[in-house]
Amino acid sequence: RKWGFSLAGELRQAAARDPGRVAVVDQDGRETSYADLLDRAERLARGLRSVAGVRAGDRVGVLGRNHPGLIETMVATTLLGADAVLVNTGLSAGQLVTVAGEQRLRVLVHDTEFTDRTLGLPAEVRRIDERQHAELVAGAGRAPRPGGRRAIPGGLRPPPRDGRTIVLTSGTTGAPKGAQRRNPTGFGPLVSIIDPIPLHVRNRIMIAAPLFHTWGYAALQVSFALRATIVLHRRFDPAGTLAALVAHRCDALFAVPVMLQRLLEVPPPHPRPPLRVVAVSGSALPGGLANTFMDAYGDVVYNLYGSTEVSWASIATPADLRAHPTTAGRPPHGTRLAILDDEGRPVPTGQVGRIFVGNGMLFEGYTSGAGRASHDGLLDTGDLGRIDGDGRLFVDGRADDMIVSGGENVFPAEVEDLIARLPEVREVAVLGVPDDEYGQRLAAFLSLHPDRTLDADAVRDHVRHHLARFSVPRDVIFVSHLPRNATGKVLARELRSHYD
Ligand code: ATP
Repeated sequence: RKWGFSLAGELRQAAARDPGRVAVVDQDGRETSYADLLDRAERLARGLRSVAGVRAGDRVGVLGRNHPGLIETMVATTLLGADAVLVNTGLSAGQLVTVAGEQRLRVLVHDTEFTDRTLGLPAEVRRIDERQHAELVAGAGRAPRPGGRRAIPGGLRPPPRDGRTIVLTSGTTGAPKGAQRRNPTGFGPLVSIIDPIPLHVRNRIMIAAPLFHTWGYAALQVSFALRATIVLHRRFDPAGTLAALVAHRCDALFAVPVMLQRLLEVPPPHPRPPLRVVAVSGSALPGGLANTFMDAYGDVVYNLYGSTEVSWASIATPADLRAHPTTAGRPPHGTRLAILDDEGRPVPTGQVGRIFVGNGMLFEGYTSGAGRASHDGLLDTGDLGRIDGDGRLFVDGRADDMIVSGGENVFPAEVEDLIARLPEVREVAVLGVPDDEYGQRLAAFLSLHPDRTLDADAVRDHVRHHLARFSVPRDVIFVSHLPRNATGKVLARELRSHYD
């Protein structure tokens, strides 16, 4: 049997072609070459096999922040033909128990900072923290030769099946679900998807989006495909990340939209990193934010639309965003996009319907066995949107988030985008709350920039000036900050508790 194209296969290819190139730089500036990264992952794989009994077909949970050890665990798992289940660091101890049971985890490899949260796991789940991880890597083989310039380390034979990576949905709409995706058949689909982005083998890419999320994981696969150097910081802190971007001369940043907002808030003076590409995904990119960021950093922002299930669906380039600040752009080569009505018929250009996507990265159902609606090989994203006459996609938001007030449909994103343009406003979320008279009414939660004031009527007047009467939030609630998950999505459930 040959090596397939799991994450392990992707790293093997990169290490074979460029063994000495720096694969990853950690928060302390330590560099690991592609050959050494593979060697460490192979030794960890042997350790997981001999000490924890991991075999092909098993599932290994990976719970950690962005650091090289997390990548080693993901690769080691798929080297054995086991599946790596990427666990969201925001899960509570109780959710972790549920996920471990549902995913039938044999092992959980976790950062030491999360030890307390793992204590409630049943004894069948073998827990491995960072110290044990280091021991497994050190104990299970010979030390790498200095310089990392040698052929691919040997010793592991191709597993009887290719390991897969299972990404969990973030759970903003219910319990986290494990999405199983086919392994790509080569780097082709990955590279074609990012074709509109000027990335190349010499890039130094800071992945700030969490690696456990579909977007951070995609960034990792792209980096392996390019054999680029990945710069990782355990957690995103705006000033520290900015300093690292400068210190490591990063020319590309993969982030979630709210991180751009936080970078803009870092007080000057600070040096400017040599960024050429800032790729964001995971939630809607407010139009005002795209342009403000590009005014400060140049035309570098790429907005990618996708989800845990479909991976990527479309890309907006800086030129697209300059012309239409809220667009999600066009589908890349090899991706099909369709806007369908409730009967599965294409809607006319410019009209709103459900977004369906087809590409080579499609998911094959949830680990629970549940599927997702599809039509003619295209998968239902659950989002509503439209495509304009030039083929540009505009995502209006999740169908489930659409507010129906007095029989009129309102998309929170449109109202949020408008309110966010008020200079006093730092961040805003709009949701529908139950209303006796209208079924639902709009509630806007907002936080202001330090030392700024604004009253509720000014917010309502601003919306009334630009949008229809039914889009004006009746409730305007000022908060110190919006609750968000690890990928920057606003936790609507927590905001709703305001009404309990
Ligand atoms: P859960 O299903 O449990 O809520 P999640 O689906 O929120 O988890 P993701 O798969 O990361 O986790 O979310 C994908 C969704 O995020 C998309 O379906 C879409 O609604 C939104 N989204 C992602 N990128 C963009 C973008 N560029 N523009 C607009 N919306 C986006």
